[in-house]
Amino acid sequence: MPKPILLSVDDDSDVLRAIERDLRSQYGAEYRVIGSDSPESALQLLKQLKVRNDSVALLLADQRMPRMDGVAFLQEATQIFPDAKRALLTAYADTNAAISAINQASINYFFLKPWDPPTEHLYPQLNDLLDDWQANYHPAFQGIRVLGTRWSPRSYELRDFLARNRVPYQWIDVEYSANDPETKRLVEALGPEAASLPVVLFPDGTKLLESLPADVAQKVGLRTRAQTDFYDLAIVGGGPAGLAAAVYGASEGLHTVMIEREAPGGQAGMSSRIENYLGFPSGLSGNDLARRAVAQAQRFGVEILSPQEAVGVRTEGSYRIIKLADKSELSCHALMIASGVQWRKLDAPGIDRLQGAGVYYGGGATEALSCKGEMIYVVGGANSAGQAAMNFAKYADRVVMLIRGASLASTMSQYLITRSKKRPISSCGRKPVLSRPTEKVVLKKSLSSALIPTKWNAYRRTQFSFLLERCPAQTGSEISSSATSAAFC
Ligand SMILES: Cc1cc2nc3c(=O)[nH]c(=O)nc-3n(C[C@H](O)[C@H](O)[C@H](O)COP(=O)(O)OP(=O)(O)OC[C@H]3O[C@@H](n4cnc5c(N)ncnc54)[C@H](O)[C@@H]3O)c2cc1C
Repeated sequence: MPKPILLSVDDDSDVLRAIERDLRSQYGAEYRVIGSDSPESALQLLKQLKVRNDSVALLLADQRMPRMDGVAFLQEATQIFPDAKRALLTAYADTNAAISAINQASINYFFLKPWDPPTEHLYPQLNDLLDDWQANYHPAFQGIRVLGTRWSPRSYELRDFLARNRVPYQWIDVEYSANDPETKRLVEALGPEAASLPVVLFPDGTKLLESLPADVAQKVGLRTRAQTDFYDLAIVGGGPAGLAAAVYGASEGLHTVMIEREAPGGQAGMSSRIENYLGFPSGLSGNDLARRAVAQAQRFGVEILSPQEAVGVRTEGSYRIIKLADKSELSCHALMIASGVQWRKLDAPGIDRLQGAGVYYGGGATEALSCKGEMIYVVGGANSAGQAAMNFAKYADRVVMLIRGASLASTMSQYLITRSKKRPISSCGRKPVLSRPTEKVVLKKSLSSALIPTKWNAYRRTQFSFLLERCPAQTGSEISSSATSAAFC
């Protein structure tokens, strides 16, 4: 965890050096001491520190500086770090100005120059100020922060990507928390760059604007390039099938690579709760299953390239050559394709524009938390839909499943039907309600009427989480009445 900062500002380099030296010798173990020889550059620095999520404990400025005096600097600096303690360094002649600054500009203290010996004229007062600051100090989040808006598909894609790749991050919805003072200060410190959403801020102070998952992947060190150009076994697809093959192949000593275009775990990684997987009697989340499988594969030495897409395959003698999306190639003796299935998209007018902005395929697991008090529609009646409905019911006010059949019995596993009947009463006191599975809704009619956009705001309050039965990618068939819920097999 980075140390909080003590910032001193003085245009006189001798005084600046002296104050830095004294601060460092007394407080260097607990604080980072930074000096600046101009108030303008100190303000720039403070903005950078704000973007990095650093904490500033003390601002110590000389009163007499050209262009901007100490009081003016401290007033501006307070806009960026309102909790920092503020102190002036003054000459004897400026004592009156310093006293009035304490009253008018909320300066906490003033020190007279010279402050020798510091043990008498500097440290006791600073100790007092810093103790006071420490009492209210909550260390800032140290990690990746993502700034975006909930209704932006690009923000959703990025959050989903980070969550599925198990990269921890803090989400800052700049629209929702527009009135939050800390968000305001961060957005101001970013300046015009704050408009290039989604913005990703990294703990090292760097940032990505209009960030794409692939750029973030590189920055956080996800491996997208193969270490060698030949493998005994290459697997395309990192769902449960691909991961299992990777574990078995590598455990038999095969030099194995797995190529996954989104995130290891595949569809299973999106499941809020898997209860029918062998070996986990009380169930586990798809994310947990993926994490365990990845750890197991890596322990056997499997190289996982993700996000990376296989875009072509050819054979040369006994070798299979795989072409990757970044135009690189790798070859192998044995190639296994475990590319799974694709979503069957809902044929409803206007739906494409709303994907990732209120309409989610696969349950929008990262979205569930934001649905507090909202109304959720889950389209589909097979297992994925059942799990998502139960997950959303933990947060939402009401969850309605839209199904075409007379009941869920033909499409949903019995254990989920039983669960869904018990679900409605939440432990947190809200009243999430799963509509009775027997509720029959005419799918196309209700959706098309709900989605005809009169005004953006008219429909954006409603979440549609489309969890349809899946079909093999190549068929692209219409929604059929016979559900084909996928299962681990
Ligand atoms: C929300 C949800 C909940 C579910 N819950 C359950 C449950 O409780 N119980 C159960 O039995 N089943 C459940 N399932 C179904 C289960 O997840 C699937 O049956 C299972 O994931 C299929 O595994 P797979 O490895 O064959 O394919 P997938 O999981 O589809 O994985 C295929 C992977 O291949 C990748 N890929 C495809 N093409 C390429 C390419 N060209 N290059 C690189 N990578 C590529 C994809 O990105 C994907 O990650 C659920 C599914 C969902 C979506």
